[in-house]
Amino acid sequence: MDKELYKGVFVFAEQREGVIQNVAFELIGKARELADSIGEKVTAILCGYKMGEMPKELIAAGADVVLVVDDEKLEHYLTEPYAQAVTHIIQECKPEIVLLGATTIGRDLGPRLSSRLRTGLTADCTSLEIGEDRNLMMTRPAFGGNLMATIVSKAHRPQMSTVRPGVMRRRVADNSRQGTVENVTVPFDTSKFRVRLVKKVHEEKNMVDITEAHILVSGGRGVGSQDGFSKLTDLAGQIHAEVSSSRAMVDAGLIGHERQVGQTGKTVRPDIYMAIGISGAIQHLAGMEESDFIIAINKDKFAPIFQVADLGVVGDLHKIVPILTAKLRASMQ
Ligand code: FAD
Repeated sequence: MDKELYKGVFVFAEQREGVIQNVAFELIGKARELADSIGEKVTAILCGYKMGEMPKELIAAGADVVLVVDDEKLEHYLTEPYAQAVTHIIQECKPEIVLLGATTIGRDLGPRLSSRLRTGLTADCTSLEIGEDRNLMMTRPAFGGNLMATIVSKAHRPQMSTVRPGVMRRRVADNSRQGTVENVTVPFDTSKFRVRLVKKVHEEKNMVDITEAHILVSGGRGVGSQDGFSKLTDLAGQIHAEVSSSRAMVDAGLIGHERQVGQTGKTVRPDIYMAIGISGAIQHLAGMEESDFIIAINKDKFAPIFQVADLGVVGDLHKIVPILTAKLRASMQ
C-alpha cells in the first residue's frame, strides 16, 4: 500500500432528522487539531436528504470541505446505503484519517467501512495524537479500563477510529469561516439493499441527556436505597441539576442505564459534577474526570474519588445531602 496517496482528515458528520449530532462537532474540533499538525485539510462527510444549512454549520465548526451526499435513500440511517455512500467517498478521496462517533450509528457503520476498505478500526478512543511517520496514535482503555492501550495502524490506510460523545471538545463556532461544499453522486447498488424501513416510532421519554447537563448530581452505591436516591433528586431540584449515577446504582435497579456515567455508560463534562457515595473506580473516572469542577462526598477519606475532586467532603451523605439541600433552599427564598 502506498501510504503517500492518502491525505486529509475526514469526519463522518452524523445527522439525525436534520440535526447534526454534537459528537460530529466534537470530532471536527479534534480533526482540526490533527490536520493542522500535519498541514492537511478537514473534510466532513454529510449524508442525508434535504440537508439545508447543515454544511455551513460544519464549516463554522472547523471543516474546510463538506462532501454532501443528498439522496432520498439516505433520509433515515440504514446500514447498507450509508456504508455504500461513505465507502465510495473514502475510495475516491483516500483520506489518511477517518473519525466517527461511537454512537449506535457510528458503531454500526465503522466496522462495515473498515472491512470493505480492508483497514483497521480502533473503537472508543479517548485520545488521538499524531505520532512518528504521521501515524495516528489511537488510545483507548483496555482490560476493563485497568490500562490504556495505544494502537497504531502502521501498514494500512485510512486510519479509522470511533470516539464516544463528550470525549473531545467542540470548538466555538466561527460563522465567518469559509469552506467548500461539494455534492457527491454515489452509484448505489440497490440490489444489495435488503432492509426496508417500514415505520419509525419514537420512545416517549421525558429524560434529559446527561451529557448536555451543566450540573450533575451523581449517586453511587453509598446512596443505598430509593430513600437515599430521593435525597439526591431533592438536591438536584434545588440547583437545576440532572441526576446521574455510577454503575452500582444502575445494577441495583435504582436508575436507568441512560444515566450511567463511565466506561460502559456516558462520558460527561459538566461545569459541576457532584460524586455522592461514589468510590471513584477507574471505570467511573473515565466518564467524568474531565468535568470542570468536581465535588465529592464520601465517608471514606481514602476513597479514590478524592484524588480527582476539587472539593471533598468526608462524611455521611445521608446527613450532609439534606443539610445542603435545606441551606440551598433557604438561600433561594
Ligand atoms: P462502590 O465502589 O461500592 O463505592 C461506594 C462508595 O460509597 C464508597 O467509597 C463508600 O465509602 C461510599 N459510602 C458508602 N456509604 C456512604 C455514606 N453513608 N456516606 C458517604 N459515602 C458513603 N462503573 C461505573 O460507575 N461506570 C461504568 O461505566 C463502569 N463500567 C465498568 C466496566 C467494566 C468492564 C468493569 C469491570 C466495571 C465497570 N464499572 C463501572 C464498575 C466499577 O468498577 C465500580 O464497581 C463502580 O463504579 C462502583 O460504583 P460505586 O462507586 O457507586 O460503588
